[in-house]
Amino acid sequence: MSNQLELYQQVILEHNRKPKNFGTLESATHKAEGFNPICGDHFWVTLELDAEGRVARIAFDGSGCAISKASASMMTEAVKGKTEAEALALCAQFHHLVKGESPEDTSLGKLVVFANIWKYPARVKCAGLAWHALQGAFAKTAVVSTETDATTEKGPST
Ligand code: ZN
Repeated sequence: MSNQLELYQQVILEHNRKPKNFGTLESATHKAEGFNPICGDHFWVTLELDAEGRVARIAFDGSGCAISKASASMMTEAVKGKTEAEALALCAQFHHLVKGESPEDTSLGKLVVFANIWKYPARVKCAGLAWHALQGAFAKTAVVSTETDATTEKGPST
């Protein structure tokens, strides 16, 4: 198990060092700013839908801790090519994973590297930030904070 944890940590550090899709799309059809005041993570997510309503391009910009940045990087990779509905479903799945509600969700692929985050409650917000921003972009919510209910999450919250 510790080997697996080490591997997970490596993946997070690698994405932090070389984030994917880092930058801002000038041609964005959807965008939102996400802020986690607890940690200081601050990102902008910009994306462009194609004629079929799929995410053609997506990027994130800003700065934050290793976990928030790695999560943002992996989020952009995970939702590329997805429709809004598919991307939002993935957001919900990811939020369940980082809250420890579905630790064995293997359908999330390499996003399972965040499966142990729930043990560190402050880090759950770091991991979820870019995903909240993505939800905000689709909902046309300009600014999303982890400390407000600006994003609508289905189901009971604690
Ligand atoms: Zn953070």
